[in-house]
Amino acid sequence: MKYQNIDFNNYFANYPDANGYFGKYGGSYIPQDLQKAIDEVNIAYQTIAQSTAFNDELQRIRKEFQGRPTPITHLKRISSQFAGVELYAKREDLNHTGAHKINHCMGEALLARSMGKTKLIAETGAGQHGVALATAAAYFGLACDIYMGAVDIKKQAPNVARMKILGANVIEVTEGLATLKEAVDAAFKAYCQEYDNAIYCIGSVVGPHPFPMMVRDFQKIVGIEARKQFLAMNGCLPDAVVACVGGGSNAIGIFCGFLNDDVELYGVEPLGKGKQLGQHAASLTYGQEGIMHGFNSIMLKDQDGNPAPVYSIASGLDYPSSGPEHAFLHDIGRVKYDVINDDETIDAFFELSRKEGIIPAIESSHAIAYAKKLAKSGKKGHILINLSGRGDKDMDHIIATYGIR
Ligand SMILES: *Cc1c(COP(=O)(O)O)cnc(C)c1O
Repeated sequence: MKYQNIDFNNYFANYPDANGYFGKYGGSYIPQDLQKAIDEVNIAYQTIAQSTAFNDELQRIRKEFQGRPTPITHLKRISSQFAGVELYAKREDLNHTGAHKINHCMGEALLARSMGKTKLIAETGAGQHGVALATAAAYFGLACDIYMGAVDIKKQAPNVARMKILGANVIEVTEGLATLKEAVDAAFKAYCQEYDNAIYCIGSVVGPHPFPMMVRDFQKIVGIEARKQFLAMNGCLPDAVVACVGGGSNAIGIFCGFLNDDVELYGVEPLGKGKQLGQHAASLTYGQEGIMHGFNSIMLKDQDGNPAPVYSIASGLDYPSSGPEHAFLHDIGRVKYDVINDDETIDAFFELSRKEGIIPAIESSHAIAYAKKLAKSGKKGHILINLSGRGDKDMDHIIATYGIR
């Protein structure tokens, strides 16, 4: 049965359900004291964030501060290598701060201000979420505490500097391996103690309900714009839409615009150095159902059932699970999830730079590589890629590791 007879006409009214489930995925698996804080966010989201005043304000910010709508660019020179295929990019790299994350950070910060909160709390790994959130905090005049592992602080000096310049408080976490997982624990702990004045802001469509829904709704703008723009540009919808998937926020954002259309959707996961556990972060492709970080989804587990170590050249895709909505769309077959390795990614990074004058984020380069792969394998028609971010942040590492290709 096609997509298990899911009614995509009423999809957003039914998914997630009142308890935050997309089929069997999602929900909220967290301690009682944290649940109390998150219930407050949920109620505020269901009321304040649905008001006309809230949405008018968000729309104004997107236009006047973020630079939306972002354009769609026809990738003419890359397309010319293939017969009967045209590639296009939705330019989320042209957002203020250089990636799609600002779409949900501005929404979360506006909600915080509307709730009368004075502080934003979050963790960050590579620092991209931290920078986007610190930007939103500065815009609204809110305090901002970013928890970051000591190891990551050393590795990501430019983003740490950006957060500090923007006025955020970067709090070093030294427990355990001193990376993202410990930073998440520290941020949750702080939130439990400070939720009277603070709100926790998640970085993707992950975590306990309502975060996967909230972040999806704030990212929907990408798909809504893209559908309209593509129709105006080409008089038709794309045949396929391709996006990279870490937690899954940029992908769900663009997919939302096309779920109810006869458009193929592809989510691209990082195969890293290979198929062996520990060498990749392709959780939907190789993982199993399980609960981590407060939600049920598909995840990569080690022998003891804990989140497995993962690897990708793209630190933004380096996560052992993906959002529950992706697990659901995977199971019903609406989105096809597939993989791209580090080498294919690097090739795409240089090709987009050389042939189109766009230096893409290494995360987004996975989607570009996959679109090229589809074209090479004989797929015809129009393919729209979500170019989630720009690659300035990746240049030093790529040149040091791969040289100039
Ligand atoms: C963080 C990030 C991603 C991955 O996050 P998703 O939630 O999967 O979108 C992708 N691209 C860029 C540029 C990022 O900064």
